[in-house]
Amino acid sequence: MTPSIPAELIERLSRAQRVVAMTGAGISAESGIPTFRDAQSGLWAQFKPEELASEAGFRAAPERVWQWYRWRYQQVRKTSPNPGHYALAQLQQRLPNFTLITQNVDGLHQAAGSTDVIELHGSIRRVRCLDNDCEEQEWPENSTGTPPKHSCGSLLRPAVVWFGEFLPEQALADAIEAVENCDLMFSIGTSSLVYPAAELPLVAQQNGAVVVEINPNPTPLSTRADYVLTGAAGVVLPELVKALPGPV
Ligand code: NAD
Repeated sequence: MTPSIPAELIERLSRAQRVVAMTGAGISAESGIPTFRDAQSGLWAQFKPEELASEAGFRAAPERVWQWYRWRYQQVRKTSPNPGHYALAQLQQRLPNFTLITQNVDGLHQAAGSTDVIELHGSIRRVRCLDNDCEEQEWPENSTGTPPKHSCGSLLRPAVVWFGEFLPEQALADAIEAVENCDLMFSIGTSSLVYPAAELPLVAQQNGAVVVEINPNPTPLSTRADYVLTGAAGVVLPELVKALPGPV
């Protein structure tokens, strides 16, 4: 079903001086990457999050966790951006001041052409050392058994944010700055349950921004959002770009 985009929203978007979009796992669902919580295909239906996505889980069984992430990284590398990712890259080109924040670790926004993406939860395409603050790096080749050690001596781990960990300081600061100063914010494909990301649209709204949710299912944000566009991101976002006035 093609959703209809309210004309008033298009007008507000065209007039906005600063626009923010925040995405969650839902935008990558149409690229074949399972979301965390969708009951049918959710990753957590098969695995326990505390065993696979926590520092304690990694320290208890480094090989299992390393191999699980390595497998997920290899799956992600086989995927491609979908029309939702491409539409957001187009919005960045079309709008004067557009910031993209993502909770996703898959790197598909960058693959679609988006730049300066704020990655709140890190990236599965990179690794870093467990104990020291060394620079992140590419996955090492041939890392099939236990996780290799970084040159500093610490074990390598995926550069994603695990349960119980703080978000990367700079990414969070940039995200807060963007939402506090935008006129319009999209919340796309996120269940709005994982904090502090879930709070960002509310911060935007408290600061006077119009909040637009895009999701096929209701979330805790739905009753607070100014507009709810019910549908898949890969359908709604291209419609939105098409509805914008001016050259395509
Ligand atoms: P979530 O699994 O909690 O919620 C996914 C949301 O997407 C749901 O509300 C669902 O209704 C919606 N959705 C499903 N299909 C959609 C579609 N086609 N278009 C738009 N929306 C759709 O995911 P979350 O809110 O991102 O939070 C969970 C955490 O999972 C995030 O922190 C993220 O780091 C992580 N995660 C990332 C990836 C990835 O990088 N692709 C994948 C899974 C989980």
